Amino acid sequence: MKILTNSKNIIDGLAKLNITDSETLLSYLPYRYEDQSYSDELDILDKEKITILIKIVSNPKLINTGRVPLITFFAISSHHEFYKINIFNQPYLMKSLLLNEEYSITGTYSLKNKTLTVSSLKKGIIESKDALKPVYHLPSEINQKVYRNLVKRTLESADNFIVDSMIPHFKEKYRLLDYLKALNMVHFPSSFDDIKIGLRTLKYHECLEYSLKNQIIRGESKRLPSIPKQKIELKKVNDFILSLDFKLTKDQLVAVREIILDMNRDSLMYRLLQGDVGSGKTIVALTCLYSNFLRGYQGAFMVPTDTLARQQYEEAQKVFAKFNIKVALLVGSLSTKERNDLKQKIENGEINVIVGTHALFSKDISYMCLGLAIIDEQHRFGVNQRNLLVSKGENCDLLLMSATPIPRTLALTIYGDMDISTLNVFPNQKRDVETKIVKEDSLEIKYLIDEMIEESRQVFIVSSKIEGEDETKSVEKLYEKYSLLYPNQVLLLHGKMDNDKKEAVLKQFLNKEKLILVATSVIELGINVVSAGLMIIYNPSNFGLASLHQLRGRISRDGNKGYCLLVTDEDDERLLVLVESNDGFKIAEQDMKNRGPGDMIGVRQAGFPLFNSLNIVDDFRMFECARDDAKEIMNNLSDKDNQRYYQMILNKINHQD
Ligand code: ADP
Ligand code: MG
Repeated sequence: MKILTNSKNIIDGLAKLNITDSETLLSYLPYRYEDQSYSDELDILDKEKITILIKIVSNPKLINTGRVPLITFFAISSHHEFYKINIFNQPYLMKSLLLNEEYSITGTYSLKNKTLTVSSLKKGIIESKDALKPVYHLPSEINQKVYRNLVKRTLESADNFIVDSMIPHFKEKYRLLDYLKALNMVHFPSSFDDIKIGLRTLKYHECLEYSLKNQIIRGESKRLPSIPKQKIELKKVNDFILSLDFKLTKDQLVAVREIILDMNRDSLMYRLLQGDVGSGKTIVALTCLYSNFLRGYQGAFMVPTDTLARQQYEEAQKVFAKFNIKVALLVGSLSTKERNDLKQKIENGEINVIVGTHALFSKDISYMCLGLAIIDEQHRFGVNQRNLLVSKGENCDLLLMSATPIPRTLALTIYGDMDISTLNVFPNQKRDVETKIVKEDSLEIKYLIDEMIEESRQVFIVSSKIEGEDETKSVEKLYEKYSLLYPNQVLLLHGKMDNDKKEAVLKQFLNKEKLILVATSVIELGINVVSAGLMIIYNPSNFGLASLHQLRGRISRDGNKGYCLLVTDEDDERLLVLVESNDGFKIAEQDMKNRGPGDMIGVRQAGFPLFNSLNIVDDFRMFECARDDAKEIMNNLSDKDNQRYYQMILNKINHQD
């Protein structure tokens, strides 16, 4: 169903959230509620936010002398208290504020002169059933009120397009509400209880759908392939491992072994390799690609960004050099001619290993014989992209890699019983990063940079923001600041730069032509600067803990002592766990607890939440139930309700991209 608005502005804004139809619009839930029930006025605290019903008793005055225009007047509340009311920056309200009329006002109270500074105002009484106002994460072009009205209108006509697809048996078992009723209760609750009750139904719907998708995809992987592959000889893989510059760690060897045994089975592999940043997943991946080459198949290695693709490509060329393996790089920035040439070579099998971004599974690319697909940073891609890549080869083993390690039991449930290999030890035992929280004016910042430059080691300076005039901590401002302090030593890198420019900058940094790189978190993903010793992060509160941990994982890769400075003047207690712990598992778990639904896998940054209502830590039990329920559905497809639900989900998998 199309979205019920003609405003191009809103449509464009919603597209940023991946909301392109009314169904998706309704599944996008508030992240909090503003409580506008009337406050008890008996003992209001200083600076407390309250909502009261007032009558205006003096003529409102507009004062334009200060920095922002101010409307001010006196009022009496329904409890006969007397207040001074200030409304900043909304001069247009003058027209609608009338003497002796009643208004509901929400604002912050100042005890000193009994003043209320207004944050929202509505003419007349707020019915208690309307007192909880939903608040959504929205892009700047859409205002909350306009959006709320759109949701309201959509819900009113939702009877026409929302069907409750739940299998009756589960609906009864878990006492679920009608889906539409639950949506109404969560978007426009009459009480906090409504939210809780409604949410439970929405969560289960989402959870069962997710679990069944997982089971279906996994089921397809576990199917026996049409053409059995030649077995991989472990001895040859060993020779390859011995040809490397370094010895693999115990964990890497175990992982390689598990993966190869899996590849040698008759059914297809569907496995996750998880390990903290720097645990050495890449070489495990390359060893598997080599093994796959041995049995005569093509391999694809998919990563989230061009820069990372290039780096992995170079690494692959290096380790495959002695083995007559043809490696190619497939990224979005290739010219049409380059792309066509490459396409040809992939199709006729001239290329053995293809490294690239999601361009790897564009519709026009077909492989002669894809036998192994590896997806790095798998959480950056949705379930269906995984599916798509596998669809390039009927016969394809799949290895997913994740640097956001999550506890095993959690992973098994979330990923639907997929097989898991884990790298726990770091190749470089000595890796030693000390993390500190420092104030912006701390002398330690300069002191440590000087020390690094002295030793010719690289320094990362990271901020979450690119530009902004009054934003002193944007990368552009930081670049200016540090260029003055260290002339000719500073580079700038951010996501809005074009790829050639980015490559050039990274090259200069890797080659130590300049030692300081000011960057947005584009560097979060994988690039490997072995001798970097210092990571300085501005606005750390804007990052999730797992992202911060990944960022500092760039440091001390050569085993020399490194530092991570979290620069902030705020008291952000959340950051303490980073100072105290270097354990990626522990940090990821903490992170999941802190963040709201959907944020955990970090996809909200990319513009779309993976989950609308679920939080994988809090809702762990529900994931367990839903996984078992999904299995039950798969095992009883002759039941007509199960069959109908299964077909619906299958349809969704096939029609999403
Ligand atoms: P990640 O797991 O974050 O993808 P990488 O695969 O990029 O980690 O490895 C991090 C660094 O460790 C790379 O420089 C890599 O060459 C190096 N490395 C990986 N395995 C070993 C090993 N067994 N011994 C020494 N260095 C290793
Ligand atoms: Mg990596």
